[in-house]
Amino acid sequence: MEKVVIMGSGCAGLTAALYSARANLKPLVLTGKQPGGLLTTTTIVENYPGFPEGVDGYELMMRLQKQAERFGARVKFGTIDSADLSRQPFRLDVEGEIIETETLIIASGASHRHLGLESEHKLENKGVTYCATCDGALPMFRSQPLVVVGGGDSAFEEAMFLTRFGSPVYLVHRRDTLRASKIMADRTLAHGQIKPVWDSVVTDVLDVAKDKVTGVRIKNVKSGVESVLDCAGVFVAIGHIPNTQLFRGVIDMDEVGYIIPKRGSATNVDGVFVAGDCSDRIYRQAVTAAGMGCAAAIDAERYLATRNE
Ligand code: NAP
Repeated sequence: MEKVVIMGSGCAGLTAALYSARANLKPLVLTGKQPGGLLTTTTIVENYPGFPEGVDGYELMMRLQKQAERFGARVKFGTIDSADLSRQPFRLDVEGEIIETETLIIASGASHRHLGLESEHKLENKGVTYCATCDGALPMFRSQPLVVVGGGDSAFEEAMFLTRFGSPVYLVHRRDTLRASKIMADRTLAHGQIKPVWDSVVTDVLDVAKDKVTGVRIKNVKSGVESVLDCAGVFVAIGHIPNTQLFRGVIDMDEVGYIIPKRGSATNVDGVFVAGDCSDRIYRQAVTAAGMGCAAAIDAERYLATRNE
């Protein structure tokens, strides 16, 4: 039986692994579908403390994993399909294998939010993508006009990155004020290849009949005027949805699915703790996720100490 199982291998999960490994609890980390979490899909992370030149997101996560493993954490590729948290030990079904554990740290992060258009869904991977870092360099986007949707840091970062491959890069945002940080916005909007399209929403991705992206239909929300922007790719960067569906009805969460901790990182189920983007709708930074992972590991360690007294 495990003492600590950590669901998720992003900043929160691996920091929880580091701390619980150093507490000699030999944590088992279940990676989920995206080992290393969302940060592995970013290029350069410029705001993680201690890296004055910035650090590649993938490299940061690989270093963190190595650091946790050095103290005895075990990292296993796998996804939890179901969890019975109704009694001790908890029982987790990991792709058919049953794992029993005294504590569970949920650090399952968040996934990309979709626009919710049928055409978006039909043209996914045929020009519609949610990750410029992963797909931006594909030949179909080279020297072509591209569209990025969103007004947050992700959209601005993606737009900036895409200027290496396509041109112009239209930044379509539903308002004329930004959620992105000022430094990111200033840098991006000053770039000659980036063309902001304010107060506009994408109402359709064209062209399903041709089975590839040829443009987007947009609507100005103030004037109501519709128009078409020709492009070869649509990069949707409109935020995230917490990966907590598995625990709906069992662990307390808000209407969107962010887990609501009861005290520190503890949830409403004794022995279950939470960390990172799956419970953070405000800060959502790599460094805050890491801090929450640390807190969850300490809380789990104290819980085990009291339980086994
Ligand atoms: P975000 O800050 O939540 O921004 C999402 C953007 O998408 C908002 O501008 C929002 O519009 C728009 N949006 C949401 N739903 C939409 C819809 N259905 N249709 C059209 N537009 C929609 O998400 P994020 O940019 O992914 O950033 C998440 C967190 O990660 C933030 O804390 C951010 O600072 C951080 N981050 C940091 C970096 C970095 O520092 N290097 C890079 C990426 C992300 P409204 O503004 O109108 O709500």
